[in-house]
Amino acid sequence: MIELDIIKPLYTADGIIDLKVNKQINRGDFLTLFGKSGSGKTTLLRILAGLETPKSGKIVVDKEIWFDSSKKINLPPQKRNVGFVFQDYALFPNMSVRRNLEFALKNKNEIKKVDEILEIMEIENLSNMKPELLSGGQKQRVALARTLMTNPKMLLLDEPLSALDTTMRLKLQDELSLIHQKFNITSILVSHDISEVFKLSNRVFKINLGEIQQDGTPNEVFSNQNISGKFKIIGEILSIKKSDILYIVEVLTNNEIVKVTAVEDEIKELKIGDKLLLSSKAFNPILMKI
Ligand code: ADP
Repeated sequence: MIELDIIKPLYTADGIIDLKVNKQINRGDFLTLFGKSGSGKTTLLRILAGLETPKSGKIVVDKEIWFDSSKKINLPPQKRNVGFVFQDYALFPNMSVRRNLEFALKNKNEIKKVDEILEIMEIENLSNMKPELLSGGQKQRVALARTLMTNPKMLLLDEPLSALDTTMRLKLQDELSLIHQKFNITSILVSHDISEVFKLSNRVFKINLGEIQQDGTPNEVFSNQNISGKFKIIGEILSIKKSDILYIVEVLTNNEIVKVTAVEDEIKELKIGDKLLLSSKAFNPILMKI
């Protein structure tokens, strides 16, 4: 359990705003921080990692005090046991994949772990290669593998997949989900991709100007009403064409294009590029702008 109650002033282009977070995050949660850029998401991850210091407040993780301004406690990053993965992979370029992993080991007696993680992440075949020869997806897989070498309590993921192409992104999302379940690591992700949020997380904080305005499941946060549909998928509108009295809406979901019929009322507010929730109640798909 992470107990967070902090305030940190942010110096933004529009003046000073306070990043204010007073929340509990359960062990094993996959939480996404979602919100406009500049709202404080990365700063919150950096505060948890110990790379930024709040002005005041408290951070307690599994009853261990990581930060307490009143008691002047502030654990340094290396004592916090978090894994941090960024968009740029930050691998050591002069070291092979295996060396990159070995280097991250805190306890050199655990050298067996290198092979274990190489196998779990399916990168054994890359172990002797230098990072420059790897694709973006492979590099990010190695970066994740390296993070796991220290048995982190918490995985902090700052848009780790946003530089990857869609296919690789979907694959790595599956892997992140697998890692999360297998190691039962509390994971906190910054993402702008709604389908990614739905796929990976069980909880979302929607942040605006330093404040958490919504806290709930992806469904609660992104759909205005609860629909009892048979299925719900997130998609993006590719085209809207009139066909007699109906409209045909082409929606991209998970790399597939789905054609849905809609009536004029439904498409009134929709335009190409909008993200939407596609939900089907038996034979009547419902389109909802999100
Ligand atoms: P996001 O990840 O939501 O895009 P950031 O956390 O990166 O937002 O940044 C939020 C705002 O806080 C930005 O305007 C940034 O300039 C400012 N900021 C970033 N780091 C600090 C800091 N250490 N102290 C004060 N303000 C900061």
